[in-house]
Amino acid sequence: MTHRAPAGRPACIYAALLALIMLQSAAYPATPLEKRIKALTDKLTPELIDIRRDIHCNPELGLQETRTSGIVAGYFRKLGLEVRTGYAKTGVIGILKGGKPGPVVAMRADMDALPITEESDVPFASKVKAVVDGRETGVMHACGHDIHTTMLLGVASVLSAVKADVPGTVVFIAQPAEECCGGADMMIAEGAFKDVVPAAFFAYHVDDTLKAGRLGYASGFMSANVDGFSLEIRSTGCHGASPWSCVDPIVVGAEIVTALQVMVAREFSVHDNTVITVGSFHGGSAPNVIPPSARLEATVRNYGDGQRRVLKEKITRLVTNICEAAGAEFNLGYEFGTPSVYNDPALTARALATAERVLGSKSALVEQKPEMGGEDFSYFGKIAPAVMFNLGVVPPDREATAVHSPTFMADEAAIPIGVNLMANILLDHQAQASRTSKK
Ligand SMILES: [Zn+2]
Ligand SMILES: [Zn+2]
Repeated sequence: MTHRAPAGRPACIYAALLALIMLQSAAYPATPLEKRIKALTDKLTPELIDIRRDIHCNPELGLQETRTSGIVAGYFRKLGLEVRTGYAKTGVIGILKGGKPGPVVAMRADMDALPITEESDVPFASKVKAVVDGRETGVMHACGHDIHTTMLLGVASVLSAVKADVPGTVVFIAQPAEECCGGADMMIAEGAFKDVVPAAFFAYHVDDTLKAGRLGYASGFMSANVDGFSLEIRSTGCHGASPWSCVDPIVVGAEIVTALQVMVAREFSVHDNTVITVGSFHGGSAPNVIPPSARLEATVRNYGDGQRRVLKEKITRLVTNICEAAGAEFNLGYEFGTPSVYNDPALTARALATAERVLGSKSALVEQKPEMGGEDFSYFGKIAPAVMFNLGVVPPDREATAVHSPTFMADEAAIPIGVNLMANILLDHQAQASRTSKK
């Protein structure tokens, strides 16, 4: 498609834009290796698009990604990587030994899909069904993990082709069960990184707010701790017409729900990003009966290890005191879930310098606020500094559709952009890390 200047617009604007683009490419002259990576990525793109469509129309739920995992392992083997399988059931690791000395670095992708019935209009839309909790549901790559897995294969392929120029070792991680079951944690616990220990981890997540070609980032915290609790408040139960005869667990529960919100507003700074949501509150079976118990379940979101411990202490204190004041028995089960993703600021800054060069402009980089959602990439950050970038996937000609929705569709144009960029990020990181270690 050619673009013509709309009538009436002065041609000098377009001349100025062209000059700006030329200035930008002059500001970021590509090295011969960078040019090779770009050429390899371009050549590989049709194959990657086919792989992505195949994975997209054959989605698999967490810990069941046997087909996807087989594709990944087979692809890695064809590239000549050392392949290890079976971590967390379907997890795969491909190890590329570069031709130059250097440390170990890792790229991670997740492979699992969601129990959502796809409603997109593409010919490769998923028709796969599964039974979850006794109910039939569609299965869909509604979080873009098909794109993540494809880019992992793409970067492995491109870097394998320039292996002689790769410093150190690159570990490619295809992880199961990000959505449901903490596949990252399981792989680590099963010893996936015992003898090959990456000194840095990189990953993408697709971003449903940014157009393809743009890269979102947050330096520091990027996602929240996903903690929570269940609380059972117990009583003897009595007639609803004589509420003085027993402790009312519904009233006690209601007081706790309200007090938790007051606690967030009055005991935490507005900069602390604390959320407590009691999303489930069950008790009772008839209007004139005070039930013998009520049950609350809550999700608790915040950032960092210190903050989550403070929240647990405060919530425990509040629940204990309110229940004791009312004379109610209780049982509080508090759980620390997926920790928050912390993007190492130094690692982020260095990768952003590469991104600015490769994407050709600082305006392609979009600073984002941390989210209150969860992401188990955080577990890799417990091993070594890590960074996850958000890769724009909104198609140019469509409205954005949200991840985890039945109509989510990512722009395939993001795949070569992501592959080319990550190959350069990994190479730059390795080159710099091996220089630093020599000093
Ligand atoms: Zn998701
Ligand atoms: Zn996801």
